[in-house]
Amino acid sequence: MCEFKKSRVISIGEHKIGGDNFTVIAGPCTIENYQDLKTIALQLKKLGIAFFRGGAFKMRTSPHSFPGLGKEGLEIIKKVADETGMLSVSEIISPEDVELLTEYVDIIQVGTRSMHNYPLLSKLGKVKNPIILKRGMSSTYEEWLLAAEHISSGGNENIILCERGIRTFDYTYTRNSLDISAVPVMKQLTDYPIIIDPSHSGGRRDLVRPLAWAGAAAGADGLLLETHFCPDETVCDSQQTVDLQELELILAQLPQLAALWNKKIPENI
Ligand code: PEP
Ligand code: MN
Repeated sequence: MCEFKKSRVISIGEHKIGGDNFTVIAGPCTIENYQDLKTIALQLKKLGIAFFRGGAFKMRTSPHSFPGLGKEGLEIIKKVADETGMLSVSEIISPEDVELLTEYVDIIQVGTRSMHNYPLLSKLGKVKNPIILKRGMSSTYEEWLLAAEHISSGGNENIILCERGIRTFDYTYTRNSLDISAVPVMKQLTDYPIIIDPSHSGGRRDLVRPLAWAGAAAGADGLLLETHFCPDETVCDSQQTVDLQELELILAQLPQLAALWNKKIPENI
């Protein structure tokens, strides 16, 4: 039988992703303004979460949807990270913005729609920031690993894989289908940490908790999820954004589930 590989440790300052660590990254889909992001970050910090997310450049399916605040959003996320001592995650959508992202965020996210943007991936191979590489929504495991190789062949081996749901055949009830097998399969094929995004996969608030717990129970190295103090008021992905009370419920059972795979949620923030 194949072995499940223990994931490599990716260090960011004093924090670590992979190895025996179970990492929670949470925050709004998009950065709307400084005050809201600061409020969310402080609430997350109180819950013991060290990593917060927020998009400044959004890859929207519809050209009429809010595209993000761009550079202004990056300035906001950096200010909040500096003020709270938390680590930031934000998405990149264009190869031209690589330098800009490295200046403003700790971890750079490649979204599902950009997994096949090979010039972007090659450029990210030349930076030092860890990269969250989301799986293309219709990509095979092989294609996903080859996308990671586009990054690693440039020298950057700090790659965190993120399963965020794939296209199957029924969209009556869910936005995508979380492919839970991705966790044990990737753990046989690579030692890159793999995290689960229970927000974009189900596309529904009420599915975030079960999908998050399923990811932890399957051996994932962490979660990336969308949260806001008032989900109904968010401009982007509000239908899948959980409030802080729900996030607390999710967090409450994660230590036991992560412990199934000898992982711990660090308490060092
Ligand atoms: C996101 O994380 O906000 C996002 C757009 O995700 P995905 O690329 O998985 O759709
Ligand atoms: Mn989103």
